Amino acid sequence: MDPSFVQALVDIVGEEFVSTRADVLLTYSVSASIGYDRVVPGTVVRPASTEEVSQILKLANKHKIPVTPRSGGSSLQGEVIPQEDGLVIDLLRLDSVQLFKDLRSVRVGAGVTFGVLDKYLNQHKLWVPVYPDSSLVCTVAGNVAVNGAGPGSGVQGCIAELVLGLEVVLPNGEVIQTGTEANPNAPGPFLRYAFGPDITGLLIGSLGAFGIITAVSIKTFKRMEHFYYQSYGFDTAEGAERFLSELRHNDVSIPMAAIYEGRILEFFLDMIGEEYGIPQTEWPPFTVSATIGRIRKDQLDSDIKMAESICMELDGRVVGVPELPQGEWEDRMWTFVRSSYVHGWWWMMLYHHQAPTNWHRSVEEIWNVMDKYGILGQTAGFLTGGRSYNFYPQLYFDPVDREEEEKVREAHRELSQRLFKTGAVPFKLARYWVEDVEEMKPYLQFIKNLKQNIDPNGIMNPGILGGI
Ligand SMILES: Cc1cc2nc3c(=O)[nH]c(=O)nc-3n(C[C@H](O)[C@H](O)[C@H](O)COP(=O)(O)OP(=O)(O)OC[C@H]3O[C@@H](n4cnc5c(N)ncnc54)[C@H](O)[C@@H]3O)c2cc1C
Repeated sequence: MDPSFVQALVDIVGEEFVSTRADVLLTYSVSASIGYDRVVPGTVVRPASTEEVSQILKLANKHKIPVTPRSGGSSLQGEVIPQEDGLVIDLLRLDSVQLFKDLRSVRVGAGVTFGVLDKYLNQHKLWVPVYPDSSLVCTVAGNVAVNGAGPGSGVQGCIAELVLGLEVVLPNGEVIQTGTEANPNAPGPFLRYAFGPDITGLLIGSLGAFGIITAVSIKTFKRMEHFYYQSYGFDTAEGAERFLSELRHNDVSIPMAAIYEGRILEFFLDMIGEEYGIPQTEWPPFTVSATIGRIRKDQLDSDIKMAESICMELDGRVVGVPELPQGEWEDRMWTFVRSSYVHGWWWMMLYHHQAPTNWHRSVEEIWNVMDKYGILGQTAGFLTGGRSYNFYPQLYFDPVDREEEEKVREAHRELSQRLFKTGAVPFKLARYWVEDVEEMKPYLQFIKNLKQNIDPNGIMNPGILGGI
């Protein structure tokens, strides 16, 4: 990389926070995205303020250097793998937290993880009810950039539903604030839909392609303190799907709920059952593992009754194994870490949402593809809000077996096409979801036009949004 460019970065942030060392660059060439090839960047810079981010983007624009914003580096689909010889902007030093108790909101810098935020809010008996299974490393801003969700999202929905405003550095270095805070006289973040079009929404799920989010303002809620854990059994997928929909339709408060088909439950229990203390059980063909949570005990009691009565109406049964949902809930910041990495597997993943009543369509296609290619995998997911089910199916491979890895990459491509046909929607615009998909062409063209206008030199994470 041009030494004068590197020197200019040093002038902005200081020598300590710029690196071109080979070992450091190697660290930034990868992320949690196993199954994606590493790419070594040219330089890493670690700004400490919005002003520094702004100066860096002005500089990168002038030199037309491709930029990859990076927060926790925990994304799983190659989103944060940099461009060869490009610039990585590591945002972890932006670590401020500002609570607006009366407005029921909090503003965090781009480097604040869910773990840090949760610890802070806990002191005030508050929370942001989204716990990505990577919460200890993944940042709130990074999650907004990927439009994520997590255990806890069963009531309020995915992260997008909670955002009140963003501070964003545009590719040309200009800084904008969205939501109520766009008015510097406002008492703080209290409404996202201020000043016309929803510019906040443009940045959610943008994977850094439209600018760098330097601060996120987000809703807080009174922390639930009363929980009930239960698993409910059904003979058919339809029964389990209906159960989830009806729970939310009747306002039963379920921060975490997941459907397991028998064989996947067996697989999951094999890995984690003992740790959670789950007893030997006669499991039904379909199990709904649910955490019901409320801030008041009387509300909880009423929800428990309602859940049981909906279960019975749908010919289900109460399985009576609370250890399963309880284990998941208590491990909510890292269940996935335990269950997926523990045996040293590598995998490719296909995040998507389905309508809860269409849960079985995703599961069928995942199995079809696994059977066709002769590979292993799983069909896990959880409810987000009342209206969608967040899937994160994984296709496993042995990392030393290049042939198997290639097979999994091919299966992954085919699965995305099959899922699209079932009506599934990805929550981020990875290329493989839309490549050659006729129905998506006008939408992609619109995104392309936006990108051209906002980032005419195409420096921000080029190619990341559906190949744009
Ligand atoms: C064990 C494990 C479990 C996981 N479980 C979940 C889960 O339950 N739910 C879920 O949603 N995800 C989950 N993930 C995926 C991952 O944690 C999320 O994608 C996470 O939100 C990424 O945040 P991050 O801070 O690590 O972002 P990064 O990986 O650093 O970046 C993600 C993307 O956003 C861009 N970006 C990062 N920061 C900014 C910024 N400030 N402004 C603009 N663009 C930016 C990057 O360029 C990249 O494209 C899991 C990952 C792991 C490893």
